Amino acid sequence: MAVKIFDSLSGEKKPLPRTKELRLFVCGPTVYDCAHLGHARTYIFFDFLAKYLRKELGLKVFYLQNITDIDDKIIARAKKEGKKPADIAKFYTKAYFEDMKKLGIDAVTKYAPATKFIPQIINQVQRLIKKGYGYEIPNDGYYFDISKFKDYGKLSRRSAEQAESATSRIDESVGKRNKGDFCMWKFSTGADLRGLDADLRGKKFTVIDGEPAWWSTLGWGRPGWHIEDTAITEYFFGPQYDIHGGGVDLKFPHHEAEIAQQEALSGKRYDRDESFVKIWMHTGFLLARGKKMSKSLGNFITIRDFLKKHSADVLRFMVLSSSHYRSPMDYSDVLAIQAEKNLNNIFRLIAKINFRLKNTKGGITNTISVKGYTGQDYSGLFKSGLADDLNTPAAISILFRAVEQGNKMFRLSSREALIKTRNFIIGSLKTLGFAPKMPVIPAKIRKLVAEREKFRGSKQFSHSDRLRKKIEGLGYEVEDTPRGPFLWPKFSLKLWQKNRD
Ligand code: AMP
Repeated sequence: MAVKIFDSLSGEKKPLPRTKELRLFVCGPTVYDCAHLGHARTYIFFDFLAKYLRKELGLKVFYLQNITDIDDKIIARAKKEGKKPADIAKFYTKAYFEDMKKLGIDAVTKYAPATKFIPQIINQVQRLIKKGYGYEIPNDGYYFDISKFKDYGKLSRRSAEQAESATSRIDESVGKRNKGDFCMWKFSTGADLRGLDADLRGKKFTVIDGEPAWWSTLGWGRPGWHIEDTAITEYFFGPQYDIHGGGVDLKFPHHEAEIAQQEALSGKRYDRDESFVKIWMHTGFLLARGKKMSKSLGNFITIRDFLKKHSADVLRFMVLSSSHYRSPMDYSDVLAIQAEKNLNNIFRLIAKINFRLKNTKGGITNTISVKGYTGQDYSGLFKSGLADDLNTPAAISILFRAVEQGNKMFRLSSREALIKTRNFIIGSLKTLGFAPKMPVIPAKIRKLVAEREKFRGSKQFSHSDRLRKKIEGLGYEVEDTPRGPFLWPKFSLKLWQKNRD
């Protein structure tokens, strides 16, 4: 099945690049606070993508992610807390890895913190200066001259003027040639640098007035944001690679600046199909009450807090089922609860099928044929949903259809039909990056259920009802079936509400 992915640069769905090893780079977090649900949306999606490419399509994928561990925001937080920027970055990098682990995000081949690539960054800045794209503003830094790169704005479709009017995360300086020029190397300020040069001779790194500074022939300073990523990707992938991903907020100026830097360096041009990146992928925002969830707006829910109420599977399911990856996703508690309910229904059917298969001696002889049950090619529809620009909500709607049908036809189904349905559901969940685990029913509950069965057998229904209530109070529902009692944990909405209040 031909897989096509929407490329934000050309505005077209493109086939996957043919290559021995697909090189995927995704912009990592700026580590000055705990990751929130917006980060989770982007990183869950790319985790799914890498796993899909590897497991479903059998491709070899090198998934690279940077960590922005040097940035103004890190410095500001360190100053506020009276700490070293490196300690802030270290603390939140660790927190980020812990969160990713809890979310089952483990597809990244290599994490690359920017501070480990300072020589590569300096080297890129030096080459850009030599090629005439970089210029110095005394006592400030080295900047990229966007007027020298004629395609500036091609990804975000901004004219040079529009590009210039945007100031997000671009260091301001009155000495810039064009308003939209961005900093590649920021000089350390606030100290007598000549004196420092002498003091620190032989030293490569120091902290000057609370700001980290690396020594180079460019002078004491630190990298700009955009150059970190191109230095890292050039080091691992060379001047061209297959897929670059990130949230839609990064399109401009970050990704635009990356294109300018790397294409200026390599001389490769998009119009000759030699673009720096073959497919640009951008995830839509996760919103909170209509606004981008973000650290700076302070309207965020951390991954940690979310996981106090829901499981990691619920978050993954919510992300993949409720919106296409390019569309915005309006987060609310209701969305999470809905995802939890839906996932619960899916797992319940798997457990029920397993229960029925286990408790039916000599096979199930009912009459509904495999064809009658799964007459629709669920698997084919699921796959074609994903092949069309990773449309996970469309694919998951097929999963819902199979579950609905499975529940409706449950009693009438043949063994083969049940097995086929179960295998389709489990296979689909695995493709989406879930490792379906069935709940283990505690011995105490099983004992109560056995007692209740005895009462039912001797028609002591008031006693059996009392035990049903007790079992329910302990969080389990009992469904009496012709093959015995089927047990399932009650939907955790109550628990969630209790935690919230
Ligand atoms: P940052 O930590 O802000 O540098 O962001 C790291 C990654 O998370 C980038 O790819 C962002 O685009 C993405 N991201 C941050 N906030 C959101 C959000 N609310 N929705 C989707 N992606 C986000």
